[in-house]
Amino acid sequence: MIIAVASGKGGTGKTTVAVNMALSIGDANLLDCDVEEPNAHTLLHPESLNTESVTVPMPMIDTDRCTLCAMCADFCEFNAIFIGKKPLVYPEICHSCGGCFLVCPEGAIEEVAREVGKLHRTNRDSVHLVYGELHVGEPIAIPVIKAVKNEIDRKKINILDAPPGTACPVIETMQDSDFVVLVTEPTPFGFHDLSMTVDVIQELDIPHGVVLNRVGVGNDEVKEFCNAKGIPILLEIPFDRKIAELYSNGVPFVQEMPDWRERFQQLFEVIKELSQNGR
Ligand code: SF4
Ligand code: SF4
Repeated sequence: MIIAVASGKGGTGKTTVAVNMALSIGDANLLDCDVEEPNAHTLLHPESLNTESVTVPMPMIDTDRCTLCAMCADFCEFNAIFIGKKPLVYPEICHSCGGCFLVCPEGAIEEVAREVGKLHRTNRDSVHLVYGELHVGEPIAIPVIKAVKNEIDRKKINILDAPPGTACPVIETMQDSDFVVLVTEPTPFGFHDLSMTVDVIQELDIPHGVVLNRVGVGNDEVKEFCNAKGIPILLEIPFDRKIAELYSNGVPFVQEMPDWRERFQQLFEVIKELSQNGR
């Protein structure tokens, strides 16, 4: 089963929910797809990492064979190749589509691997954690997210911590999920970003529900919206000093508050039922 945990904006408690749910369920894969700012590992404190490179194919032009015909530059819709007195490739804007390799009549373009990030695997308690890290300055997160998602084991429960927002990296993460948990807070900002994310999920047609975090601040706008749209509120986490203190000390609160472990287990049972019913 694949459960994506998402939110329309950062700072809503999305990673907290993903980590606490993974610890409560046990024997789960936790896949941190927020590759520009992964932080599930800061709550799990893994001791050892198995790390590998994430690379993308990039063209390298053999200037001895190149006749400067510019067919590759004309083909590249991302303007990642410039042919002047000599050929130039701009790696950061190349989308690795492979087209230029095919159109070059001289066979002057070779494919080389370019590292865009890292993939880390580790274990903590009963959780197998995988997280990706996009290198600073790299504009395209998708290859690293795909590398993280390659670690999905369909025989296990996979919890995906999605990047915030509603752009391509979020959609790439949520695609193929059985259920999306939307984490938000009962504030005007929370409501605004939730409504945008709901539009995207409904377009993708994935069953979903809401976890309300920091209940006790803000207003009832999110609840009214969920009621009107028929979106179930799966869990409410209060604005609680002890939870906030544990978070700031890097401690998942189910480790210190065992009654919450049961609530996250119940949350998982509800998710299973709703995903089977397709809502
Ligand atoms: S691989 Fe595709 S995106 Fe990259 S330079 Fe070649 S044509 Fe452009
Ligand atoms: S298509 Fe091949 S020969 Fe023509 S400019 Fe590009 S690399 Fe050079």
